[in-house]
Amino acid sequence: MKIFIPQDVLWILRKLNENGFEAYVVGGCVRDSILGRKPSDWDITTDAEPMQVKGIFRRTIDTGLQHGTVTVMNHGVGYEVTTYRLDGDYSDHRRPESVTFSRDLADDLMRRDFTVNAMAYHPEKGLVDLYDGLADMKARVIRAVGDPDERFDEDALRILRAVRFAAQLGFTIEPATKAAIRNHVEDLSHVSVERIETELTKLICSPHPEEMEELYELGITAKILPEFDRMMETPQNTPYHYTDVGHHTIAVMQHVSPTKAMRYAALLHDIGKPACRTTDEAGVDHFKKHPIVGEPMAEQVLRRLKLDNKTIDSVCRLVLWHDFGINDDLTDAGFRRGMSKMGIEHFPEYLEIRRADTAGQSDYRKEEKQETINRLIRMYEKTVEAEAALTVRDLAIGGKELKEAGVPAGPRMGEILGHLLDYVLEDPARNTREELLSETERFLRIILA
Ligand code: ATP
Ligand code: MG
Repeated sequence: MKIFIPQDVLWILRKLNENGFEAYVVGGCVRDSILGRKPSDWDITTDAEPMQVKGIFRRTIDTGLQHGTVTVMNHGVGYEVTTYRLDGDYSDHRRPESVTFSRDLADDLMRRDFTVNAMAYHPEKGLVDLYDGLADMKARVIRAVGDPDERFDEDALRILRAVRFAAQLGFTIEPATKAAIRNHVEDLSHVSVERIETELTKLICSPHPEEMEELYELGITAKILPEFDRMMETPQNTPYHYTDVGHHTIAVMQHVSPTKAMRYAALLHDIGKPACRTTDEAGVDHFKKHPIVGEPMAEQVLRRLKLDNKTIDSVCRLVLWHDFGINDDLTDAGFRRGMSKMGIEHFPEYLEIRRADTAGQSDYRKEEKQETINRLIRMYEKTVEAEAALTVRDLAIGGKELKEAGVPAGPRMGEILGHLLDYVLEDPARNTREELLSETERFLRIILA
């Protein structure tokens, strides 16, 4: 087994060795290298203690000295160098009460979460694989190191990490590990929401967002995203769908690009459906107004998970607008009015959700749905081409001209600008100075009468 290690990392290993210490690359970078994936970072484990590491390297950052971690800077990149350590008791299901430094690499590998994450490598000594991580990698399984029950009892975050790695690597969770997860889902309440968000985001942005179903099956979403359980339990007895809201949601996630905003938008686009479901006399389900009901629900979920405002903003917009123009009776003016509210700059993301939404539905009237989408694209192109006014800023006259025409500043000004925008959205050819001034006069006459 030969792993390619970057020059700058080799240099750190060599310096530690020259000073009489052991040093290995360890964890995710070893796993990813063997799998042919590009490691996100290179972690180093050593028997040198933090003060000794600091003595060897000129540029270091005290990342977590009490946990044994010193960041060594090399060519502007930071590498975490951590002393072999044994974790003490975990009384809070989150972090060890104490850590003890060790001189033995085996101790350090034993505290790691999964066998595929518990391998170390040295360019001359080769792979150190005390828990058969390589075999599990070949079998494509995530297996806890040692006794799975103990491992999840120590740190409940590992529950989410297990499913996240399964999603990122396309692996399955080994049965005993899975059983232990089930036993410990309650402990997720001890994990901070920031760490939950990190793992959930990695999972949904992975090549296998369908692992959401595993989260549900294992009882994890019941703890961290109960709204998803409602979706999994909401049938859609309509010819447009072939499955329940939850499975449809997963299909839509698989069809959008793996960015945070798109994947969360797909995850939450139908969050309003369970609350909106009605069944008619013929037994057909309807979900009227579910985007309007869903938008504040999506916001609540994302705020609870502490996502950033930019993501929350994009996701909420997509949840609210995902069904825009779904019927084929949309007029050009109706399209412009919609874009005026949604913001035409968001049309590409909206289109992506619409396409994915269609891809996750039954084949019933598929061609019509496709044709509706094509019509929307033509309307979009026409609107952009014509540089049609969609906001007050695009109007041929502004506050200054209106003031000159005798409109007092204040709420009346806003009212008139709003009216002029509606007037222009109806027909873009009306967006001339003369036309708008005469419409202003007419409007003033009516409201002042
Ligand atoms: P990523 O690609 O997400 O960085 P990674 O495997 O490197 O994956 P990190 O969170 O960077 O994951 O952790 C580095 C290593 O530390 C892991 O490979 C694992 O050996 C160990 N580790 C991290 N978190 C835990 C934990 N909660 N319990 C036990 N070991 C852990
Ligand atoms: Mg890492």
